[in-house]
Amino acid sequence: MPTLVMKFGGTSVANLDRIRRAAKRVGVEVSKGYDVIVIVSAMSGKTNELVGWVNETSPLHDAREYDAVVSSGENVTAGLMALTLQEMGVPARSWQGWQVPLKTDSAHSQARIDDIPPENINAKFAEGMKVAVVAGFQGISPEGRITTLGRGGSDTTAVAFAAAFDAVRCDIYTDVDGVYTTDPRICSKARKLDKIAFEEMLELASLGAKVLQTRSVELAMRYKVKLRVLSSFEEQSDEAGTLVCDEEEIMESNIVNGVAYSRDEAKLTCLSVADRPGIAATIFGCLSDAGVNVDMIVQNISEDGRTDMTFSCPTDQVARAKVALDEIKTSGELNYAELVADTEVAKVSVVGIGMRSQSGVAAKMFKVLRDEGVNIKIITTSEIKISVLVERKYMELAVQALHDAFELDKA
Ligand code: ASP
Ligand code: MG
Repeated sequence: MPTLVMKFGGTSVANLDRIRRAAKRVGVEVSKGYDVIVIVSAMSGKTNELVGWVNETSPLHDAREYDAVVSSGENVTAGLMALTLQEMGVPARSWQGWQVPLKTDSAHSQARIDDIPPENINAKFAEGMKVAVVAGFQGISPEGRITTLGRGGSDTTAVAFAAAFDAVRCDIYTDVDGVYTTDPRICSKARKLDKIAFEEMLELASLGAKVLQTRSVELAMRYKVKLRVLSSFEEQSDEAGTLVCDEEEIMESNIVNGVAYSRDEAKLTCLSVADRPGIAATIFGCLSDAGVNVDMIVQNISEDGRTDMTFSCPTDQVARAKVALDEIKTSGELNYAELVADTEVAKVSVVGIGMRSQSGVAAKMFKVLRDEGVNIKIITTSEIKISVLVERKYMELAVQALHDAFELDKA
């Protein structure tokens, strides 16, 4: 039998009614002749509650016990989904990560998947089980302890199962009906895409579009898993939602296919550091040791052997960055005149594989921002993306203006 993977996010299993609605969708696919692997998240809000309990009990907690607690939300929904399917007459069984087993490394709370041997579940399919309901987000370490895959990790569980079982497709059921050209909450003209290339989705996911965990897209791209994002709240046809696929499968594509943003960015500058080998290594080595996620980096032209080093990071990491840079200044490891922080910035990016072959996208983007009177603080580019850091109060304006200028509302 061909295998289909269906993943239901937290809002799609938020209560017993919604679990029943999701189970009906599963029943429809079973009746088409698929063996179905259902991956479930915890009920919406549950994981946050569990994380809160852990932090309240032990602020500097043992990550193994964090995983023991936080993985439990998925166990509940897996069991309830299997029971609901059984009540509908569909032969179903629930599986926790360790029972499959979904093998991971030992990086608790951020574990990576090593292997999913399909034998145990396949043996049950051979005996007549039609649906394996698997608890998402969790696995087992080589030491035999429960691990979790990082927040949003059930998406990655789903794609990994699709790859391991050579599934025809991996359907991600969520509370939106697909991937949009930008966030419909800040741009009313945002349009749902029928298809999007893996590379573009990867950029959009890592730039702040929250539909899919970035790692799940990486995995889908690597194993060429056809990924579909669709709503569990609407009646669905086979063409519903957005297909994330190989770029060869997309006939016509706009040059720019998405505008992403990330609101909580900060810009820090070390004023007047020496311009000599090793300075960047010192600054960014120290920030990395402090767990600061540096994103954009700019080094100024130097005068008289001194230069300014500017970088961006999430606003909630500014305090940590300041402490770390202060320490190496005090210790004499790095000499700079002043550290200035601007915490009122946001990042806006345009993404599209068409940029590889078309020039002028950057020029057009900058012209649009100029016409809106939006000043650019930092620019970075990749082959298929241009990002700018702007004042946060202009973020929504910038997104809307770029969406208009690149005509993303038109297919
Ligand atoms: N329940 C986990 C979370 O909220 C995993 C997931 O839903 O993807 O992060
Ligand atoms: Mg999610």
